[in-house]
Amino acid sequence: MTSSGVRGPGPDAVFAAGLEDGEFRIQRCGSCGAHIHYPRALCPECGSADLAAVRASGRGTVYATSVVRVRPEHGENYNIALVDLAEGPRMMTRVVDIAPEDVRIGDAVTAFVGEIEGDKVVLFRPAAAASAGDAR
Ligand SMILES: [Zn+2]
Repeated sequence: MTSSGVRGPGPDAVFAAGLEDGEFRIQRCGSCGAHIHYPRALCPECGSADLAAVRASGRGTVYATSVVRVRPEHGENYNIALVDLAEGPRMMTRVVDIAPEDVRIGDAVTAFVGEIEGDKVVLFRPAAAASAGDAR
């Protein structure tokens, strides 16, 4: 854990708390308006510490994709992707609910909070499939 000098829970803790609530939060800089992810103490654009956690739209576009091949006795192959969020930041994640090799650059994807080995994480699924099960 790092000490940022900012009062209250640090940016990582705020992000983790959001995941526990099933919510994907990114940061927005109060000085320059940039959206930031992953969470940090200072805005990488302008250096301001005036960062607030906001709920991400969850809309994203696949920027790059690859398949991690796993020995059969250790599980199944999975996808690793770089996704550009609608707000701007690019994040490493997984696209699921689709065969890992079927993920294409430029695909529209939607974020949701899932779990990998017991940890809550932000995952993505194809945007077309998202409306079916997510009636909020
Ligand atoms: Zn800024």
